[in-house]
Amino acid sequence: MISQILVFNSGSSSFKFSLYQSDQSEPILAGLAEQLGSQQACISFEYKQNKQKFKTPNSNHEAAINFVLDQFKTLNIDTSLIKAIGHRVVHGGEFYNDSVIVNDEVLNNLESCSDLAPLHNPANIQGIKIMQNLFKDIPQIAVFDTAFHQTLPKHAYLYAVDYNWYKDYAVRRYGFHGTSHKYVAQQAKTILKLDDKHQLITIHLGNGCSACAIKDGKSVDTTMGMTPLEGLVMGTRCGDIDPSILQFIANKTNLSLDEITTKLNKQSGLLGLSGLSNDMRTLIAASATNPQAKIAIDVFCFKLAKQIMALATSLSKIDVLVFTGGIGENSAFIREEVLEHLVLLGYKVETEFNNHQKLYNGQITKANTPLAMVIKTDEELMIKNDTTRLIFSN
Ligand code: ADP
Repeated sequence: MISQILVFNSGSSSFKFSLYQSDQSEPILAGLAEQLGSQQACISFEYKQNKQKFKTPNSNHEAAINFVLDQFKTLNIDTSLIKAIGHRVVHGGEFYNDSVIVNDEVLNNLESCSDLAPLHNPANIQGIKIMQNLFKDIPQIAVFDTAFHQTLPKHAYLYAVDYNWYKDYAVRRYGFHGTSHKYVAQQAKTILKLDDKHQLITIHLGNGCSACAIKDGKSVDTTMGMTPLEGLVMGTRCGDIDPSILQFIANKTNLSLDEITTKLNKQSGLLGLSGLSNDMRTLIAASATNPQAKIAIDVFCFKLAKQIMALATSLSKIDVLVFTGGIGENSAFIREEVLEHLVLLGYKVETEFNNHQKLYNGQITKANTPLAMVIKTDEELMIKNDTTRLIFSN
């Protein structure tokens, strides 16, 4: 019998959804609700290559989900075929190294992780609860950004601070984007026919950015930390900085710690450096005439390359370096800038491959030199696959 899986990614003022047939890798339908709770709230859909957009002023999450389900009916989509709902959950703390079927204990655990991810987990939990209400007899599955990184060795996940902070408050590095890193690593293994002892570095460059060292299929180090603020330069997040800057800026500006943390999350990174935009495409277009845009790109690429070298510390070889995410998949320029910093590792970009990577199975480096390639990520598919695996194995 046909069964369908709904994938749901609930944010604080938005949610994404995709509906899959359980044995297919392309969604039947996908969509996005944005600016929820505001006058500008709207919902867009893509179904059978037709795009539709609806204004739903002031709708909250629940109203928007009901609107979406009504649209399913209009499109003759039979919601009784939905057998499970897979949810993206950002933080699973140390509780989960794999996806899990949600029950009351799981919800309690997720709530206890909320102060580790205050911008994300409450919204993820809200999404699960709304769906539990609407689909009472259907299993809800939580798929965590952190789960893939639970294999990090202690020397990689501990901060060199008072050990009691770890014991008492779970202060440690968790890592994020795990679903994406795991997906592209599995794809690389399949495409390149790598054996189980493969080692690689995956680089996810979207609005958030992180990289991951993977050994024998397991994450052994990654750039994000206790929160997604650590590591690489991102669209609006600063990545690694000297922690003393917080006190220094508090003294200089009278900003509170909360305000400074918000600045580091929302007004730093590419946006903070360029003063122009958090969007890499905009910065690349402006960089010929705007020195601030250029310096933002230079810092982004240099710090990324430096972190790739640091991740190599956890590996004894690198079978392949994989670029993914909106920037990683689409910007030949950024890939080239990054690899130029990695001459020590032997990377040599082949311009023709890099500019037309899709024609070359994603390969972007010269033949007979260390391999770097592009693989398109698909976090929704990974959530759907995990959801299918869990409901059919129980
Ligand atoms: P999110 O993390 O929100 O899913 P994406 O993975 O879609 O975001 O990545 C968004 C980033 O990708 C933006 O900075 C955008 O400018 C960048 N991007 C998309 N296409 C290109 C391109 N052709 N060249 C450079 N950057 C691009």
